[in-house]
Amino acid sequence: TVSRLQPFASTIFAEMTALATEHDAINLGQGFPDTDGPVSMLEVARQAIADGLNQYPPGPGMPVLRQAIVADRAARYGISHDPNSEVLVTVGATEAISAAVLGLVEPGEEVVLIEPYYDSYAAAVALAGAVRRAVPLVRDGERYALDVDGLRAAITPNTKMLVVNSPHNPTGTVFTEAELLAVAELACEHDLLVLSDEVYEHLVFDGLTHTPLAALPGMYERTVTVSSAAKTFNVTGWKTGWACGPAELIDGVRSAKQFMSFVAGGPFQPAVAHALEHEQRWVQQMRNELQGKRDLLASALRGAGFGVYSGGGTYFLLADISALGTRDGIEFCRRLPREVGVAGVPVSVFTDHPQQWNHLVRFAFCKRDEVLAEAVSRLGRLG
Ligand code: PMP
Ligand code: GLN
Repeated sequence: TVSRLQPFASTIFAEMTALATEHDAINLGQGFPDTDGPVSMLEVARQAIADGLNQYPPGPGMPVLRQAIVADRAARYGISHDPNSEVLVTVGATEAISAAVLGLVEPGEEVVLIEPYYDSYAAAVALAGAVRRAVPLVRDGERYALDVDGLRAAITPNTKMLVVNSPHNPTGTVFTEAELLAVAELACEHDLLVLSDEVYEHLVFDGLTHTPLAALPGMYERTVTVSSAAKTFNVTGWKTGWACGPAELIDGVRSAKQFMSFVAGGPFQPAVAHALEHEQRWVQQMRNELQGKRDLLASALRGAGFGVYSGGGTYFLLADISALGTRDGIEFCRRLPREVGVAGVPVSVFTDHPQQWNHLVRFAFCKRDEVLAEAVSRLGRLG
């Protein structure tokens, strides 16, 4: 393995999922749902295969999907894109993220991440030979909030890009419009590109709303927005994502993407297009159910003695393990599958300041109620 990838030799998701399998534990580590997406969407994919849509689709993605993405963003956010030059279909959001960094950041330039950060950001920055600076979120009561002064302090003349993720994995924080406006102001003032990872854009609870960064003043022309069908339609295995933004930026993303995968899987594209057009009610219902699951897991963890940070979005909440007499989240997560039959993920692995975060464990609640109930009863044995 080359030296720049050595720190990323194996992901925490691979390690914890392997432990969960070995001990037959309930996997609340890796974030994936255990029920299928909308039936009509699955049927369109089946039909696409039967109809012979099994060869390379166009490089930027099938027109039907690019148009559906554009229509969806116009309808929900009032943002308009040219489907031919401002939308790129990718192999999940993961590829869009790597391709955006590889296609838009020069070696040696700096990329600012908000910590804890989704693990692929740091790896993408390393692959590009760029330099990362991580700005920790700060505790504000039960919420993890943006540290605007910290963000300002991390920007140097060599900074090229900010990576923002709202709703935020792993804290669940949904950034407020005021927080995002502060990001926008800094990005405009220092003329930075912004990679806005909005894969959880629909998974927002408690009456909060998701603000797309590209809709804020001065942001369209500097923002690459990334999203995916994975979390919106319960198809994490389809690896169908997209990047949207101004043509010059999407061209950079496309230049890298074409040599990573060339194209994304064909039969899934008309199916996701269909879902974007016809299954918004399904998404709302799923989101409402997810909020109930969040509440169920949060109250059970509190009952078992954990401190809980349940943000307003995503698949995840954070449990503070200090009340259980340990602050070593990595060690805790390595023994949890064997000792109680549940897997989680230590938050410190998503950070550059592990000692600040080691007492926190991320649990996913995107599971059937009976599975969550069993997980909760197992976790209760810890208390
Ligand atoms: N960004 C974030 C914040 C994620 O949590 C994930 C994983 N679900 C991804 C990107 C990757 O998405 P995909 O599975 O579409 O590649
Ligand atoms: N995004 C999901 C998570 O955060 C899955 C990540 C993965 O398996 N690479 O759990």
